[in-house]
Amino acid sequence: MNDCIFCEIVKNPIKAQVIYEDDDFLAFEDLHPQAPAHFLIIPKAHLDTILDADERTLGRLLAIGVEEAKKKGLDKGGFRTVINCKRHAGQSVGHLHVHIMGGRWFTWPPG
Ligand code: 5GP
Ligand code: ZN
Repeated sequence: MNDCIFCEIVKNPIKAQVIYEDDDFLAFEDLHPQAPAHFLIIPKAHLDTILDADERTLGRLLAIGVEEAKKKGLDKGGFRTVINCKRHAGQSVGHLHVHIMGGRWFTWPPG
């Protein structure tokens, strides 16, 4: 349908380092990690932002993120979960995604 880079990864998962996949969701390592651990969880169906997601999608995105964070041992020290929505938040890829980052300290509030 489009030139969305995350839809491209859904069609051809070899383009990313996939850590989780089921019929409807995919999780893969971020190309430009901002922490020792940094991965993304996406719905396979294209949704522009969190504004377009239903409850099941939101729940699954977070549940998959938590499971994969635990597998990486991030539950010990904790981790940061981020969903950027549109331009004020700096969303740069227009396909809904959840960031999970861990393995270092994060500051609050974010910039
Ligand atoms: P946003 O700024 O939209 O919240 O986050 C987009 C994220 O996608 C960024 O962290 C960026 O590094 C990551 N990203 C952009 N293009 C690709 C790609 O082709 N492959 C992977 N694995 N990550 C990407
Ligand atoms: Zn897409």
